[in-house]
Amino acid sequence: AISEVCTGKLKNAFALVRPPGHHAERGQAKGFCLFNNIAVGARYAQERLKVGRILIVDWDLHHGNGTQHSFEEDPTILYFSTHQFPYYPGTGAYTEIGTGKGRGYTVNVPLTIGYGDAEYLSLFERVLKPIALEFKPELILVSAGFDIYIGDPLGGMNVTPVGFAAMTRAIMDIADQCCEGKVALTLEGGYDVNGERDSGKEVLKELSGLNKTSPAELAGSAMQEMVDTVVARVKSVHDQYWK
Ligand code: ZN
Repeated sequence: AISEVCTGKLKNAFALVRPPGHHAERGQAKGFCLFNNIAVGARYAQERLKVGRILIVDWDLHHGNGTQHSFEEDPTILYFSTHQFPYYPGTGAYTEIGTGKGRGYTVNVPLTIGYGDAEYLSLFERVLKPIALEFKPELILVSAGFDIYIGDPLGGMNVTPVGFAAMTRAIMDIADQCCEGKVALTLEGGYDVNGERDSGKEVLKELSGLNKTSPAELAGSAMQEMVDTVVARVKSVHDQYWK
């Protein structure tokens, strides 16, 4: 999928793979994950396809410990994750910002339960978008987990199929501004089969251009307090790295 996108054969792609990958560490399978698909994909893009800077957006319910650990010292790969916290796997505090030369290139947005479409879109608008536009990725990869779906048995989030569509569109908009729309998604978690089906379909409609959901419209109805608290926390550790 990454090859097709990077060589321009496809504008974007969604790899519907199982098992998921973002919990897998270099030397250890973990949390249903055997190999870290997105981490392997990112390095593949750099080494084989000569891509420089890569943004990884991880909207799965869980923190992608394996992905963070793979790149936390690396300023060429920016890892951005929203996740329920504290929760499995335990990593992903907002103070985890990367190490060494990679400081500032890990952006964790830990959330309590109850975040829905509007709050996610607002956080994308206020945290992800400005940092991403400053970082200027040449490719965007997405760890697309559907366990933030409102009916997911493992999660406490309230994202609906329209929310997933708008999150996809928000990322596509960033990609249009930075890297000719180059986006590749890979499937992570998701434990309500109907929710995963419905949400996956909406994401595909967005990627293919059949739908054009407005992220700004959805973000408008966010519970401001829920968003402000999180933005303030992220700012407190990242304002020395990002404008
Ligand atoms: Zn998950």
